[in-house]
Amino acid sequence: MRDEHRELRELLGAFALGHLDPPERDRVRAHLDGCAACRAELAELVPLGRRLSAVDPDALDETPTPPPGLGEAVLARIAEEERRVVPLRRRTTVRRRVALGAAVTGVAAAGAVVGWVARPVPDPVPLEPVSVQAVASDVEARADLVPHTWGVEVRLTGTGFDAGEVYRVAVTADDGREVPAGEFLGVGPQPMRCNLNSSVLRADAVAFEVVDADGDVVARSEF
Ligand SMILES: [Zn+2]
Repeated sequence: MRDEHRELRELLGAFALGHLDPPERDRVRAHLDGCAACRAELAELVPLGRRLSAVDPDALDETPTPPPGLGEAVLARIAEEERRVVPLRRRTTVRRRVALGAAVTGVAAAGAVVGWVARPVPDPVPLEPVSVQAVASDVEARADLVPHTWGVEVRLTGTGFDAGEVYRVAVTADDGREVPAGEFLGVGPQPMRCNLNSSVLRADAVAFEVVDADGDVVARSEF
């Protein structure tokens, strides 16, 4: 029972996420019937599993961002430790203890902090949401514009672009020019997310169009 408890307890996370094959699932269920400790642990895991399954992996940033101010807080804390007034004869000991403490408890944290303080932090991207009018019946889409110094970027999200079909996107400038912004392959009913770049500056851009392989407009946005 005890070994079984230990072994099955390690499976509880996968059980909560529904990742076990049927025989394993049955074993965990049978054990849960007789083990209050595992039932309690599972009760704590279930809400977490629910939240995890609600996460859209596509929506996650590539770089995890530490909370703002963490670096300064850690550095300030270290400076405070060093400043602390101590009797002269104890100073060396304390300093050594602080250093030792930092070495023992802080190496991993300090390494991570130095790492993320040193990494180039991209400016937050200013997104301008624009509405997209679907012309083709199956298409549903929305978009954000990003004003770059080299032109406007269209971040297009949508469903219903025919799987395997090539779609072209063009940005219309206020003088009537239609400037290509790139193309993408439709993925059918699955959500599609695509960044399209044009050389039209945001101030000069008035619209964009998504055109299918036959040259028919399937979606357009005027802004
Ligand atoms: Zn158990």
